[in-house]
Amino acid sequence: MTHFHRQAGTLFVEGVSVSQLAQQHGTPLYVYSRAALAEAWEAYAAGTALAKRHSDPNAKVKVHVAVKANSNIGVLSVFARLGAGFDIVSAGELARVLAAGGQASDTVFSGVGKSAAEMRYALQAGVKCFNVESLPELERLNAVAGELGVRAPISLRVNPDVNPKTHPYISTGLKGNKFGVAFSEARKAYATASKMPNLVVHGIDCHIGSQITETEPYLDAIDKVLELVDEIESDGTPIQHIDVGGGLGIDYGDGGSPPPKTADFVRTILDHIDDHSTKRRDVWFEPGRSLLGNSGILLTTVEYLKPGEEKNFAIVDAAMNDLSRPALYQAFHRVEPVISRDPDPEPGVLARTYDIVGPVCESGDWLARDRELLLAPGDTLAVFSAGAYGFTMASNYNTRPRAAELLVDGTEAHVVRERETVAQLFAGERVLP
Ligand SMILES: *Cc1c(COP(=O)(O)O)cnc(C)c1O
Repeated sequence: MTHFHRQAGTLFVEGVSVSQLAQQHGTPLYVYSRAALAEAWEAYAAGTALAKRHSDPNAKVKVHVAVKANSNIGVLSVFARLGAGFDIVSAGELARVLAAGGQASDTVFSGVGKSAAEMRYALQAGVKCFNVESLPELERLNAVAGELGVRAPISLRVNPDVNPKTHPYISTGLKGNKFGVAFSEARKAYATASKMPNLVVHGIDCHIGSQITETEPYLDAIDKVLELVDEIESDGTPIQHIDVGGGLGIDYGDGGSPPPKTADFVRTILDHIDDHSTKRRDVWFEPGRSLLGNSGILLTTVEYLKPGEEKNFAIVDAAMNDLSRPALYQAFHRVEPVISRDPDPEPGVLARTYDIVGPVCESGDWLARDRELLLAPGDTLAVFSAGAYGFTMASNYNTRPRAAELLVDGTEAHVVRERETVAQLFAGERVLP
């Protein structure tokens, strides 16, 4: 995270002092680094450039940013300008992509529960492909496309059922979860889809999970997908692209095994596909976390210190409604003071092992546990790796306005989302007449 660095003990995002941002804009505050976003993006391009297929015009590589990881239109506009495609899971996300300057023709529509209205909107906008997740969805999409007099480009999201014993962390690519078409039914589903008059089969898709820190499960999934592709093509349906999904993990700084470097990962995937296929096909990626996670931090201020017999609490002004990953998944986020304190504590500064907790009325409202810190009330803390599944999962629980979001670009900090006001929170509500 070189774009988040210290100068004389003070944390900077690129050329901007984080402490000044907190003073100017208040906390809780999300801060993203444009350079970090660009660097994460470039790693996908670098991996592509290293792969054997590089410069083969019949084997393109396209990266679609998973919008659900961070859907701020300022952030999305950075990717749009870099030439990214987008992976969406709702009509709302498509509207954001378009508002950010992204192209529908470079957008893939994923998700298990697309409504007819969402399909209509996406077809009219002209999305590139629907990742269809069930037979009833095929039928609905065929009907909606028919009403509009268009043909919908599709791929089926297949569920490769990668062995959970070898890969226990994979949660979405297994039998017995709601995602994708069962592997055993996929060939028949393709045969069905290819006969539907208002659909055009374009490719095949799988997305096996999230925060995956090894390449092997992808290779296992790809082997199964490639076998299936041969069967589908022998049935007379050409497959033009293979979408390997997202899911590459990031280093949260918790001491766990770090993921492969993105460029190495991309190159390995592409070469594996090309070494095991007779035909060259386009390969698509749908990364979220690996592009966004380490490109953002959440700033929060210590309200109170509450030393106790069993636990010491630092009560801060950010909560589970701002960053819910710890409460939801027991997720680890690195936490550091924005201004490092002298190890020789001044009066009022307490060196303790703290649980960092928010003001929300839930015991599950914590951001970090058992952290050794030197703290005083009023200190600002940076919660790292908050760029993905941070703000997008924020809620207004406890009538807490959502945080502002800033995007730092060199020495400038742009407000890409204003802090919500309490009035906005119940503007659509009515008291009884
Ligand atoms: C969430 C999601 C992604 C992105 O996953 P990451 O783990 O953030 O890379 C990609 N594709 C689909 C279909 C998803 O649901």
